[in-house]
Formats: sequence, C-alpha cells, structure tokens
Amino acid sequence: MKEEIFDIAVVGAGFGGIYAAHRFREKNLSVVGIEGASGVGGAWYHNGYPGSRVDTDSVDMYSYLFSREIYEGWLWTERYAAQPELMQHLNWVADKLDVKRLFRFDTWLRESHWSSEDQRWHLKTDRGDQIACRFLVMCTGNLSEPKPVPFPGLNQFKGEWHQTNRWPHREVRFKDRHVAIVGTGSSGVQAAPVVAEQAEHLYVFQRSPHYGVPARNGPSNVEKQRAIARTLDEFKETMLARPTLPFGQEDRKRAAQYTPEEQQERLERQWAVGGHAMAYVFEDIGINLDSNAIASEFVRRKIRERVNDPTIAEKLCPEYPIGTHRLILETDYYECFNRDNVTLVDMREDPIEEITETGIRTRGNHYDVDLIIFALGFKAFLGAIDSAGVANEKGQTPREIWARGPRTVFGLMTPGFPNFFHPTNAGSPSVLGPLIVENEFHVDWIADCIEHMRRSGYSTVEATEEGADNWGRKSAAVAQNMLRRQEDNYMVHVNPDDGSRIFQPWGSGMATYVPEVRCMTERDYEGFAFNT
Ligand SMILES: Cc1cc2nc3c(=O)[nH]c(=O)nc-3n(C[C@H](O)[C@H](O)[C@H](O)COP(=O)(O)OP(=O)(O)OC[C@H]3O[C@@H](n4cnc5c(N)ncnc54)[C@H](O)[C@@H]3O)c2cc1C
Repeated sequence: MKEEIFDIAVVGAGFGGIYAAHRFREKNLSVVGIEGASGVGGAWYHNGYPGSRVDTDSVDMYSYLFSREIYEGWLWTERYAAQPELMQHLNWVADKLDVKRLFRFDTWLRESHWSSEDQRWHLKTDRGDQIACRFLVMCTGNLSEPKPVPFPGLNQFKGEWHQTNRWPHREVRFKDRHVAIVGTGSSGVQAAPVVAEQAEHLYVFQRSPHYGVPARNGPSNVEKQRAIARTLDEFKETMLARPTLPFGQEDRKRAAQYTPEEQQERLERQWAVGGHAMAYVFEDIGINLDSNAIASEFVRRKIRERVNDPTIAEKLCPEYPIGTHRLILETDYYECFNRDNVTLVDMREDPIEEITETGIRTRGNHYDVDLIIFALGFKAFLGAIDSAGVANEKGQTPREIWARGPRTVFGLMTPGFPNFFHPTNAGSPSVLGPLIVENEFHVDWIADCIEHMRRSGYSTVEATEEGADNWGRKSAAVAQNMLRRQEDNYMVHVNPDDGSRIFQPWGSGMATYVPEVRCMTERDYEGFAFNT
C-alpha cells in the first residue's frame, strides 16, 4: 500500500481527539485521525458497563469550554452525566464540527517511527494503512489501555465474560444469572448496585477496599449552566487557574483550626454535598496525617452505619489515608451488601487461583457463575502509547525514556521524540485535573507551537534533556509533601533500586501548572529546542 502524507496525525477520537482534529484543521493543517473503536467517544465508547458515568460535575468540571455554541447547545440532564448521554453528546459535537470524516475508525495504530531524513513520523495501522506525517499527537487517553486479566484458565470458562473498559455494544443479560464482578475500583463500585438489582446472585471480588462516598447524583443544574454560558471565556480562565478542587470548597481551613464539633459539622456538610468534596474537607487533608485521620475515620464510620453485617462492613473499610487513592463516588454501593443476593469475597483472605469452566476458584472455594465482569483498571499513562508502537530514530520507546519516572516537559513532550505530543499525560495535572479542559489547553498549546514554527521556519520541536530535568524537579517539588506520594498506586512510580517515589501527575493542579507553562512558553519556549 502506498504511503499517504499528512501534516498531522491525531490518534484517538475521545474528547481530546475530537477537539484536536477540529483545531488543527482550523489551522489549515491536513489532518488524519486514527481510532481503534468503531466510532467517536474515547473512554465513553469503551466503558459502557452498567452504572458508567462521570465522577465530576458535568456542568462545570466536565464540559467542552472552547465554544459557546457547543456549551450552551447541550444541557446536561444529570449532575454526573451517564455513559449513554456522553456518547450522544460526543457524536453530536463531532457531527457539529464535522470531524468524523477526518477519522479512520476500526483502525489501531501499531507502529510509529520517526525518521530524521524526511523529518516525518511513519505510521502503520492494523488495517495496513501507511501514513507519513510531520506531527504525531496521541489523544489516546491516560486511562484507556485495559490491564489484561491476570488469572489463569480464562480460556476454559464456558460462560460469558467482559472487561468494564471494553464493554460490548450490545445488551448483556444479568437477569436470572449468577454474576461475578472482579475489582472494586470506580468501575466495579458503579456496576455492582446496578447488577445486584437484576442478577440472581452477585459475587463481588474485592482485593482492596476503597473509600466510597455518596455521589448524590440528581438533575443537572441548568440555571448554573446557563449562567456559566453567559461568561464562558472568563469561566474557562477560572478553570485553568483552579487548584485540584471541586467548586465550593475554597473556604476551608486546616483541621486544627476547627473545634472537634466544627470538624464534625463540616464533615457532615461535605457528606451531604456528596462527590469529591469529602477529599477536600480540610485544607491540610492531603499533607497532614492527623487531619486526614479525622476524615478517614468519619467515612469508615459511615460505611459501618450503612452495612448491616459488622464483619462485612469491616472488610469494606479501607485503612489508608483518605484521598491518597482517587475517591470513589457511589450510589447505593454499601447498601447492596445488605441484599440476600450479594456476597462479598475478600481476596486478601481468599485469593483467586484460577478461572474454571464453570466459574472462579479461590484458595478456599469455588464460585459457579454464568458471567464474569472484570473491573481491573488501566495501564495508566503510557499504556496506549506502548500499544501504538512508538519509537524514535534510535529505536527507543517513551517507556524506556521514562524508566525512572515520567521524563517530560509539561507532560506533553518527551526528549528524543521530535514533533511528538502526548496531551494529558504524566507530568501534567493529568488524571487529577479536569480532563476536558486539560485536553483543550494542551491542544491549543500544540496548535500555537506549530504556528510559531511556521512563522519562524522551523521543521521540528523537541523537549530538551535539560528541560526535562528542570520540569522533573519542579514536578517533584510540588508533590514533595503529599501523603499521596507515600501510597502505592498507579500514580506513584517507585524505583526499585533506591526506593525513590515519583508522583507521576503534576500534583498541585492547573493553578500552578498553567502559569508555569505560560511563563516558560513566553520565555521563548524554555525547555524546547527547534530546528529548521
Ligand atoms: C468510567 C470513567 C469515568 C471517568 N470519569 C471522569 C470524570 O468524571 N472526570 C474526568 O475529568 N475524567 C474522567 N475520566 C477520564 C476520561 O478518560 C477522560 O475524561 C476523557 O475521556 C479523556 O479523553 P481523551 O480524549 O484524552 O482520551 P480517551 O477518552 O481515553 O480516548 C482515547 C481514545 O484513543 C483510542 N486509542 C488508544 N490507543 C489507540 C491506538 N493505538 N490506535 C488507535 N486508537 C487508539 C482509544 O480507542 C480511545 O477511543 C473517566 C474515565 C472513565 C473510564
């Protein structure tokens, strides 16, 4: 097949890729979009499991903000939009912007090599496309590549099984069936109460309990959306200047500045508000163990109050400091363990040994099931970039360059990879930020950078080694005191030789990130090198 030539390739057709394709075409670049799924939607295309919805408020934290017409043209129906509405929304936006025709769907990028000879990326897809492009933009998401199922024996299972993050686009029946959900992160916790309502019996396999707090979903605040629409540009600047905080949490103080009664009052108020408010109840909750312990114990008490059987309640109570793993927003999750048709299987006491023909064998039991739902999470940050076979001229992969933790400038470019951009990746607020606005910010930065290159006659841009050293130091400094850095989870990279712990996202949110990016960009793109 003959190699086709484009200015820019955008990989992924989620919130990021849709906007990127539109923005780059506006800049008169020839754009090719590559998307493995059969349509637009990104995370929402793949995560159609029961109960799937956002966990940040749609109206202010989870909307495109680049176009008034789009923002006010879609009034969200719920406080936390559900997956079907997100899919409708993204299809509506992609049609409105007329970007679907730029994308090749059902097409996975599998090889991507840079050649300095013609200063282009050379791409190969699983459908045999061969594409050369000057710029490669990975809107592939930081939580998009599923973790594989690690249990032996899956191929002998005679029932049906699915991963929450590769959910099929057809109805899956739960009624009259024995169902297992393996994993109790956000997806497992969202799915369990919905499945429990329909299944004959539900087994919830839990490795580690997490803090779940009531989402308090309900109708969306249309008045608020209309008010934001009236001053959308100013609102977007507010979003870009925000610490990692839900709206309404700005007046908080350190826990010790409240009396014990005031602390409890405040905790109850946050509990009633619902959502991520609980992770921000005190100003020092993320850096002070004593302050954190007050909130952690409060939520554990609530869990104990909601679950009838004290032994099960105890198994559902996490021990780590609250907020050091992403808080889980739930609706009736804990109450579902009061149902006769729901069983909690604690994998710390009774780990899964294998999948059998008829179900799941743990060390001490066998559970006969018709359907297994694996809610195991993602290969975060670089997973999708690995899957696209990205290599520079020396044959190095980004993962090799990141061997001791993320090595980037702005979380957007990795040294040694010219004209290669990875929006919303580690080194930026990433999974801790409002991801739609972050995507807009990064895509705008790339568009401006390409414009700068065009005006100055440059062919390539690359993050420098010195720039990455400098950015790494800044990123480490903002995360230095975070309790989060001490917890083992996907956000923390641990170097086994010296035990150093690198917090992968930029820890203090857009409020400190955006001014840094703007300031270094104004200083003639500090941290980057351009070549003709
Ligand atoms: C259940 C769930 C709930 C979430 N809730 C929130 C929330 O409340 N707030 C929030 O800010 N974020 C949330 N997120 C994070 C979510 O990923 C982002 O909000 C947003 O979807 C990111 O958009 P994106 O375009 O960057 O990436 P994605 O939406 O992840 O899209 C990436 C696309 O790239 C495609 N792709 C990947 N590799 C390749 C390849 N090699 N070739 C071709 N195509 C490829 C994938 O198929 C996918 O369609 C949630 C995620 C999930 C899964």
